[in-house]
Amino acid sequence: MDFETPSEYEPILDVVREFRRRELDPLEKEFLLAGEMDKETKLALELKARDVGLWALDVPEEEGGANLSLLAIAMIHAEICQNAIPFHFGGSPEPMLREASPEQKARYYDTVISGEKRSCYAFTEPDAGSDVQGIKTRAIKDGNDWVLNGTKIYITNAHMADYAFVYAVTDPAKRAKGGITCFMVDRGTPGFTIGNRIRTMGDGRDPYELVFQDCRVPEENILGELGFAFSMGDKQLTHGRVVLAAMCLGLAERSIAIATEWAKQRKAFGKTISQYQAIQWYLADSAVELEAAKMLVYKAAWLYDNDKPVRTEAHMAKLYAAEMAQRVTDRCIQVLGGLGYTLETPIQSMWRHARVKRIGHGTTEIHRWMIARSMLGM
Ligand SMILES: Cc1cc2nc3c(=O)[nH]c(=O)nc-3n(C[C@H](O)[C@H](O)[C@H](O)COP(=O)(O)OP(=O)(O)OC[C@H]3O[C@@H](n4cnc5c(N)ncnc54)[C@H](O)[C@@H]3O)c2cc1C
Repeated sequence: MDFETPSEYEPILDVVREFRRRELDPLEKEFLLAGEMDKETKLALELKARDVGLWALDVPEEEGGANLSLLAIAMIHAEICQNAIPFHFGGSPEPMLREASPEQKARYYDTVISGEKRSCYAFTEPDAGSDVQGIKTRAIKDGNDWVLNGTKIYITNAHMADYAFVYAVTDPAKRAKGGITCFMVDRGTPGFTIGNRIRTMGDGRDPYELVFQDCRVPEENILGELGFAFSMGDKQLTHGRVVLAAMCLGLAERSIAIATEWAKQRKAFGKTISQYQAIQWYLADSAVELEAAKMLVYKAAWLYDNDKPVRTEAHMAKLYAAEMAQRVTDRCIQVLGGLGYTLETPIQSMWRHARVKRIGHGTTEIHRWMIARSMLGM
């Protein structure tokens, strides 16, 4: 067993650190006060990252990507998330597209890598989130087209996307067993509108509602096999879970660093608060939990990279890292006292980033359920 960061990752991690220091850190204070970042600044940052090679991280080299392992990508996200700005690395198409037809790949995969297009992922509905079988958006065949009707909610990046992956019921009798299909729907298709922005307590990347009213989508826009949207992307979902878990490492690490420095300076009752056991235990528990989460996240990434079974380990990593980041950022706010609650420090923002990590990409309850099912052989 080897617990060292692979030496070949050091150059790219140095690039990420430098990018964070040079591009994100100077904008953080302004972002904390504004609570969000405008679209143009976000896009400009993405392009600056592209200039230094931080683009299409998971895409094979021959397709124009950086071809990084999941372990390297996890470490990159743990690094970048030490800034409160929710930075997004561009150029990575939704991995399900690797299963697309050559024509679809040319339209939807290559154009994301080249930076021309962006997508959003539309699954959740007002009446169905965790219960994937419960979606109501309906697609009915009419000639060579499918006609979509329904509403999606909480769709991240919908306002910036050129097309959406939309899950719809194509056979109500079969539902998850051959009756739910994934359609790629272009922005501007008649009957497809971006609805309300849904204001959240989060990191400024508020999601949107999508509305489909008699929206005609050609048969060739079906991704994968008709009715089998759920047979695609298990491996890719695992990839996404590990990346999200890695983000939690960064949130916790920066919060602990701030709280530790503050504890050494802040005086109460004639001593620095670092001399009180209550504060020491907050810091110690946080450091132990961060370390434990790192082990889970990096192990899951290593299993993935080495083509070993990783499904349950990825659920464990995401579950633990998200809950860890929530506890750690909360404790760190406590160490800062009143200051921790203000917009002067990124910790409150990181606490809010951490909160949604317990909901997106599967709630913590669903991850526990999946882990237990695997233990019980269900
Ligand atoms: C900021 C944000 C961005 C998002 N972005 C996207 C996006 O881009 N695309 C997209 O499709 N969706 C997106 N989502 C939706 C997200 O994936 C769902 O909110 C999530 O899957 C939970 O679904 P739900 O909100 O319907 O909650 P529900 O499924 O209604 O769950 C409510 C509660 O019941 C629990 N619960 C449900 N079933 C069980 C069970 N069997 N056992 C135990 N507990 C259970 C849940 O864990 C939760 O605690 C986003 C959400 C947010 C907040």
